[in-house]
Amino acid sequence: MSLTAALAYARHGIPVLPVHAPDPRGGCTCDRGASCDRPGKHPHLRHGLHEASTDPRLLELWWSRWPGANVGLRTGVAMDVADVDSAEGWHGLCHLLGGDFPAGPRVRTGGGGWHFWFRPMGYGNRVRLLPGLDWRGVGGYVVAPPSRHASGGDYRWVHRPSEPLPEGPAALRALIEGPPPLPGHRAIAHPTRYARAALAAEADRVARAPVGSRNDTLNRAAYSLGRFVGAGLLDLSETVRELEEAARFAGLGRAEIRATLRSGLTAGSHAPFDPSAGAPRRVA
Ligand SMILES: [Zn+2]
Repeated sequence: MSLTAALAYARHGIPVLPVHAPDPRGGCTCDRGASCDRPGKHPHLRHGLHEASTDPRLLELWWSRWPGANVGLRTGVAMDVADVDSAEGWHGLCHLLGGDFPAGPRVRTGGGGWHFWFRPMGYGNRVRLLPGLDWRGVGGYVVAPPSRHASGGDYRWVHRPSEPLPEGPAALRALIEGPPPLPGHRAIAHPTRYARAALAAEADRVARAPVGSRNDTLNRAAYSLGRFVGAGLLDLSETVRELEEAARFAGLGRAEIRATLRSGLTAGSHAPFDPSAGAPRRVA
C-alpha cells in the first residue's frame, strides 16, 4: 500500500525516501527499537534524504526490502510544507494568516498535527517559526500518507493534493525570510558549501582534541553543526555519523558520544544558522 502511494508521489516529481516505521510491538523498526527517539520518522537509507528519488525502479527495490516502510517525501523540490505539531501551532498559523487557511493540500499527521503543502519558496528548513510550527523546505522531508505514526494513528489526507499548489501566503513568507541582515555582516554566498566545510573542520577538530577537552570540543562542534542541520544545510544522520567517527577516533566512549551529540545537536538545531546574517564568530 505504501509502495503504491510512493510511486504516485514520484510520478508528481516528489523525491521519495523510505522511512522507518513504528514497530507494532512498540518503538521503531530500526536497530534501536524501543529506545529510538524518533520512531517511525527517520530514513532507512544511509544518506537519508540525499538519496530520495523519483525513479520507480528504485522505489520498488526499496519497498521490496522494507515493505512496511513509512513514506518520506523530500521538501523544497515539488512542494514545501508548513508542519504544525500542536494546537498552539495551529492557532499561531491561523492568527498569522488572518484566520484564512489556504485551500491547498492538508494532511492530518498520525500524531495529531497538520501538514499544509505549498509551492516551493526556495528557503531551507526553519525550526520553530512559531511555537508548534516548523517549515520544511530545501534540505528537509516530511512523512506522508499512508504512513503510520508511533502513537498508533495514520497520516491521512484532509484535502488531497491538486495542481497547482497554493502559493505561500505573504505573511508566512515574511516570517520564513526573517529580519534583514544586520549591518556589517556579509551574507554567505554558498551556504551549502559553507556548511560542508564547517562539517569537515569540526570533525577534524574533534578527532584531534586532546584528552581533557574532548567532550567539550565535541559539544561545541555538535552545537555549531546542529545550527546548520536546523537550517536544512546539513543532513542530520550524516552529521551524527561524521562526528561519531571523529569522537571515536579521539577515544571517547560510545555512550558519552551519544549523549553529547544529542544535547549539542538538539540545542544547535533550535538556533538555526542564518546564511544571510553572515559568518558566526567562533568562540575559541
Ligand atoms: Zn528508529
